[in-house]
Amino acid sequence: MRIFSKIIYSVRRKKGASTTEFIVIMPLFFLLALVVWQLVVAGLAVLDAQAAIRDAVKVASTEGDEEKAKEQFETSFGSHQKKAIESFELEIDDQEVIAKAKIKIPIIFAEGMPDMTYNTSSKAPVLQKYVGAYSFGGGPGGSFITTGGILGPPTKSAVLTSRFGYRFHPIRHIRKLHAGIDLAGPVGTPIYAAGDGVVVRAGKSNGYGNLIIIDHGNGMQTWYAHMFSEHIYVRPGQQVKRGDHIAGIGNAGWSTGPHLHFEVHINGQPVDPLRYISKS
Ligand SMILES: [Zn+2]
Repeated sequence: MRIFSKIIYSVRRKKGASTTEFIVIMPLFFLLALVVWQLVVAGLAVLDAQAAIRDAVKVASTEGDEEKAKEQFETSFGSHQKKAIESFELEIDDQEVIAKAKIKIPIIFAEGMPDMTYNTSSKAPVLQKYVGAYSFGGGPGGSFITTGGILGPPTKSAVLTSRFGYRFHPIRHIRKLHAGIDLAGPVGTPIYAAGDGVVVRAGKSNGYGNLIIIDHGNGMQTWYAHMFSEHIYVRPGQQVKRGDHIAGIGNAGWSTGPHLHFEVHINGQPVDPLRYISKS
């Protein structure tokens, strides 16, 4: 019996000791967990806001469309936390896109307390001015307009024979991107630099026949293809100005008739050139 009661005693004592520890440590642990959780919530909100504002500025900079940029901000920030956006402002002037956002950071377990807010802003140069539509020309590819972008026309011939976009191959059943526009014209028709920049490539290229690439800075490049070698008037490293006569239209490479294949690349991605060229 003695031994039995001794065991019960020691069990009780142990239980008592662990209860004390539990009472002291648990609230501390809980508090710490709350602090960590709050920091994670705030950190994620800040990261989301920064990513979203960068996406919005990119859209505004390349497409010149404020509404689209605002939509992009909400999409990138996440539709489930739309309520946390307190304000978003975006301005496009001649040179620059400026965006400012204010987001609410929820305070966990403190209902009714004023929310913390986080302010962030972002800037970028304007790559596309949205000044309404200019008519540019027509051709077998249909009549077309440009939105009056920052690039000059790469050639005076405005006979559009093929647009930018995906083509469905009827036999091979694959979608393939036509990464530029085709402007047809007689062999030797002048090709002009669409903007100021540096020639980074001028020579033979598989499929393109010959290819000239001009880098305009800010992630923008223009590509010119299918010229014959004797109609290339620039070399790599050369500085060019918008409107400089850099080559003549040719029929080299995979080409079914003399034309200029013209591409515009933004940050390495081909985009629809008609959104970037103006008529003069
Ligand atoms: Zn083409």
